[in-house]
Amino acid sequence: MNKNELVRVTIEDFTKSGEGIGHANGYTLFVKDALIGDTVLARITKSKKGYAYARVETIETSSPFRVKAQCPEARRCGGCTLQEYDYAKQLEWKRAYVESVMRRIGGFPELEVRPVLGMNYPFRYRNKAQYPIAEVRDGRGGNRAAAGFYAGRTHYLIEIEDCLLSPETDGEILRRFLLYMKNQHVPAYNEETHTGLVRHLLIRHGAVTGEILVCPVINGKVLPSPEKLIRALRDIPGMKSICVNINTRPGNVILGDRTFPLYGKAWITDNLLGHTFRISPRSFYQVNHAQAEVLYREALAAADLRGNETVFDLYCGIGTIALTFAPLVKEVYGVEIVPDAVADARMNAKENGLLNAQFYAGAAEDLVVSGSFSEHVPCPHPDIVILDPPRKGCASSLIEAVRSLDPGRIVYVSCDPATLARDLRLFAPSYRPLYAQPVDMFPQGPHIECVVPLERSNGTH
Ligand code: SAH
Repeated sequence: MNKNELVRVTIEDFTKSGEGIGHANGYTLFVKDALIGDTVLARITKSKKGYAYARVETIETSSPFRVKAQCPEARRCGGCTLQEYDYAKQLEWKRAYVESVMRRIGGFPELEVRPVLGMNYPFRYRNKAQYPIAEVRDGRGGNRAAAGFYAGRTHYLIEIEDCLLSPETDGEILRRFLLYMKNQHVPAYNEETHTGLVRHLLIRHGAVTGEILVCPVINGKVLPSPEKLIRALRDIPGMKSICVNINTRPGNVILGDRTFPLYGKAWITDNLLGHTFRISPRSFYQVNHAQAEVLYREALAAADLRGNETVFDLYCGIGTIALTFAPLVKEVYGVEIVPDAVADARMNAKENGLLNAQFYAGAAEDLVVSGSFSEHVPCPHPDIVILDPPRKGCASSLIEAVRSLDPGRIVYVSCDPATLARDLRLFAPSYRPLYAQPVDMFPQGPHIECVVPLERSNGTH
């Protein structure tokens, strides 16, 4: 197949990034914006041996599950690849996807994959967004700063005034922020030349508390006229924290290492399952609050607590899972690599009066493999180990070390079924997965979160 060739193809499945998969002329085609059940004429954008990438030219027969996009930018913006696919079908596909990777990658064809726990209203769920800021043409021969998202797989900015996954307030914050930039002649960052100042605007909301944090990420040391920015934003209801984050390195990493408060504290608080959490700009916090509570309830169910356990929460972030477990068990040890998040976790333990939870900074694989959480704290024997790694999954050295700690149960919380399946295979045969419970943290997008309890197999220990 050649670039620019037109082919007719019927879409059978989605890739893990939400592109349509179909077959034609002996090729596997990955078709952007095509949905399962569509028959489309697709134009080849890149051809490889046996497979090719393509984009929809015309939809000849529409999928019966195609729905009207809610957002006018759904196609161009890289965020919501499944927005035009009926939500109930999105959930069905996600379950089938988990089942298929468990079979293909994990070698667990019999594993029970439960129906996905989805949302009643699958929009406006994000409590965090990092909007790229860039110069665009103003239509009068000049430039102006704009905010939005990058089009799928590019660094081409699609202007967004109101992202339907985020709270409506974000639109107002972005509007005021861009006006501040214009009035104070603050230049947006240019990725290609590594010049200009404002790279991103990070906005965080406490879903329960209503608190808001706004943090421009800048390629420089100071934001000009910060008092003007404060004045522009502070009467937005809930505005609790305005910070600036310094990131002068070229590249795709959004946040730099240093954050300074301009107004209020350098964090906000939120509440999850009855506990209060302090969240700093650099700390991880689940982006979908309602579904995070669903996920943590599933993690509790998967742990099957008796009440006197020693629990490890590896990859603990600001300690949300650890502190959800703490009142129900003997003690919890959390490990997290981002120092700001560990500081948040310690503060959160204290604020919630949960003195049986301790937190340590470091890579889980380093600390657990070394057998100590810190110089004076050897790892005790855990009854339960909770793993909640980023998409790349666990280091195999960590899996080895957890196995030799010999916990009775492991609860694996995963945001990427493929690495989850790979890791479950490494835990077998000494640990057996009991079921997978997917939770839809990311409606309209292709990602899916899963909770899997693993039980120590009889006889092997
Ligand atoms: N359990 C938490 C965080 C999950 S996200 C929650 O539900 O909120 C994964 C976390 O792992 C992030 O906070 C990330 O900073 C951290 N992390 C990434 N690599 C790590 C590693 N090698 N060791 C320990 N923590 C790591």
